[in-house]
Amino acid sequence: MIIVFKPHTPDEKINEVSDIITKLGYEPRVIRGVEHTVIGAIGDEQMHRSLEILKSFSFIEDVIPIQKRYKLASREYHPADSLAQIGSEKLGAGFFQVIAGPCSVESLDQMRKAAKDVASCGVKILRGGAYKPRTSPYDFQGLGDEGVEILRKVKEETKMPVVTEIVGVSHIASVSAVADCLQIGARNCQNYHLLECVAGAGKPVLLKRGLAATVEEWLSSAEYLLVHGCPQVILCERGIRTFESSTRNTLDLGAVAVAKRESHLPVIVDPSHAAGRVELVLPLARAAIAVGADGIIVEAHPNPMEAASDPAQQIKSGNFKKFMDGINPLIDLMRNLRG
Ligand code: PEP
Ligand code: MN
Repeated sequence: MIIVFKPHTPDEKINEVSDIITKLGYEPRVIRGVEHTVIGAIGDEQMHRSLEILKSFSFIEDVIPIQKRYKLASREYHPADSLAQIGSEKLGAGFFQVIAGPCSVESLDQMRKAAKDVASCGVKILRGGAYKPRTSPYDFQGLGDEGVEILRKVKEETKMPVVTEIVGVSHIASVSAVADCLQIGARNCQNYHLLECVAGAGKPVLLKRGLAATVEEWLSSAEYLLVHGCPQVILCERGIRTFESSTRNTLDLGAVAVAKRESHLPVIVDPSHAAGRVELVLPLARAAIAVGADGIIVEAHPNPMEAASDPAQQIKSGNFKKFMDGINPLIDLMRNLRG
């Protein structure tokens, strides 16, 4: 921590603060400038009590943390790209994955058809929500346990690993018995109790960025998962809430580039929830690949017109080849650029 004093702060105040810093377990180093004096407080900010309380002194201008609040997620801690293992499939560290499937699990036939359609285009990992976090209580809430059973059957038939969302603590165990990767949705990105409980399930977690979460908050949520024992975390940018209403959410590709620099964790993009409209999914997916994402998660439904949730943004799974043909050259190009 760096403590910056206001110009011309008397020595007695600086000494007083030095004593407080020592009592809190840090070693104070005083640096006197022409006008400003600063104290560098040496010590592990993770372990020691925060010095932010000093901001309440009228003669202190600022208290600036030096250490990142997300240590385990940071590249300083783990310089090489980390890899997530989703069932039989690798994601990150050079392994690009397209995860696809319906927004919600609706029936066995629907999931079977979606899985078969996307698998025939080269997709290796299936998505589908059995538990759905819906904005309105009157909207379809997902099939719950029945949906999990459908996922189990389709996984058994297709051998595709499955990503599905956890919306509450009560179903972590039953969903983990089937899912290969647990999704934390945007609305729960900062539900810290849920993050702690999901971390203990022993499965990789796909962590969506919250609708209004900064990159630092998003990475701090990843830190919650890691510090509570989650084996692997995948970050997912899915668009944020801004003043712009021409897309459902504003896809923040800058955040993808920042997250890739700041963290060793794989970063994927969800162009479907950012776009909100099917015709925008391909261009946003292409942009995500070009910015360096490690994968994309895309909604695909056998008959989007009849989808129980998010009908406007789902690609007809029978047409998924056209989408894949539109992104595959870019995936190859980026792989070659990385060398
Ligand atoms: C989803 O992936 O089905 C979903 C609800 O996404 P988000 O949490 O990003 O809105
Ligand atoms: Mn959806």
